[in-house]
Amino acid sequence: MPDRSFLHWPFFEDRHRQFAEQLDAWCAKKLPVDHHDVDAACRNLVSMLGRDGWLKPTALDPDKPEPLDVRTLCITRETLARHDGLADFAFAMQGLGTGAISLFGTPEQQRWLEKTRAGQAIAAFALSEPRSGSDVANMEMAAVRDGDFYLLSGEKTWISNGGIADVYIVFARTGEAPGAKGISALIVPADTKGLGIAERLEVIAPHPLARLSFDNVRVPASALIGKPGDGFRIAMSVLDVFRSTVGAAALGFARRALDESIKRVSERNLFGAPMAELQMVQGHIADMALDVDAAALLVYRAAWTKDMGAARVTREAAMAKLFATDKAQEVIDKAVQLHGGDGVRKGHIVESLYREIRALRIYEGASDVQKVVIARQVMGAA
Ligand SMILES: Cc1cc2nc3c(=O)[nH]c(=O)nc-3n(C[C@H](O)[C@H](O)[C@H](O)COP(=O)(O)OP(=O)(O)OC[C@H]3O[C@@H](n4cnc5c(N)ncnc54)[C@H](O)[C@@H]3O)c2cc1C
Repeated sequence: MPDRSFLHWPFFEDRHRQFAEQLDAWCAKKLPVDHHDVDAACRNLVSMLGRDGWLKPTALDPDKPEPLDVRTLCITRETLARHDGLADFAFAMQGLGTGAISLFGTPEQQRWLEKTRAGQAIAAFALSEPRSGSDVANMEMAAVRDGDFYLLSGEKTWISNGGIADVYIVFARTGEAPGAKGISALIVPADTKGLGIAERLEVIAPHPLARLSFDNVRVPASALIGKPGDGFRIAMSVLDVFRSTVGAAALGFARRALDESIKRVSERNLFGAPMAELQMVQGHIADMALDVDAAALLVYRAAWTKDMGAARVTREAAMAKLFATDKAQEVIDKAVQLHGGDGVRKGHIVESLYREIRALRIYEGASDVQKVVIARQVMGAA
């Protein structure tokens, strides 16, 4: 039985506790799904999650607009990640992919959210390019105004849901100023002429991922989110909300690794007694539990701070993401060690966690980038 005591921390309200319990019961019944065909699995997960109402927290309700509840987003990611990494991915991308529309979209643009919240449309967030990942402000993709339209040309890469998405939020250079101030955000439906899948990318924990090509892709000026030149600010605001949730997913993976390890050391005998009686094993378990609790405190501190109305939680979210993802990697590595040969056996749960966690330390701002962000925040405040 996974530790649920954190739900009694003062960060949460009763509605969060009930939600966590109901979602956990749903996951125990429906997950994991078959991952054999990763595109089909993701489509299926989005539709299952949408049909049963679990995608509602990912985006604003256009008929009853209220701010996104970051604690619910985090609880959902933690719970889904504990049961099935691909389910967490399917949920997370509906939120990240539509975050710009939830936060800055017009009522007309927000009509997309009815479909994404119901699992009837799949969303993607297209920021990174072959020559600008960490250095986002250096992006090259152009969106040139042509009467009542924008014409987009260039490439985006590492785009999660690339190949299966129905709508892409694309960040492109509109040239109001050099660097970060000359970027805009646009809504591009996947079936727009000139938008192609240049390459499908395979990674160690498979999920739909692609490099996209834009060859004079024409979208109406009404596809622009916010004002021309707002794109960088919009992207950073979206990441400010969703960055803590990456920490929450890492926490879910780490919690699963800890649970599996406790089970393993309790059941396996070594040198005539359960492994759990060896003090060095207890040391590993203690370190893992400590890292899990410390990560949870940082993740839910960030989520709570945002939900209490903070305009930005740059420092809190960066700390949560950095600590939770780096520590989850260590926790999972210890779990692999405690499982011996089984830990590296293809198909074993801790082997898959070992692959799942790695990319979380790279995307939405690599660990090194989070350190730079934290340093700037704390030195700026001094
Ligand atoms: C599985 C996966 C899914 C992704 N999904 C999406 C998506 O849906 N949408 C999207 O737009 N992008 C996505 N990305 C892209 C991701 O955001 C980038 O890979 C990430 O920002 C790093 O950029 P890069 O790969 O170009 O590496 P680079 O920018 O070349 O950085 C390489 C490394 O340099 C180090 N580094 C960077 N900055 C500093 C610094 N200031 N000081 C010291 N070291 C530093 C970091 O360790 C970093 O990993 C995804 C990536 C992966 C792997």
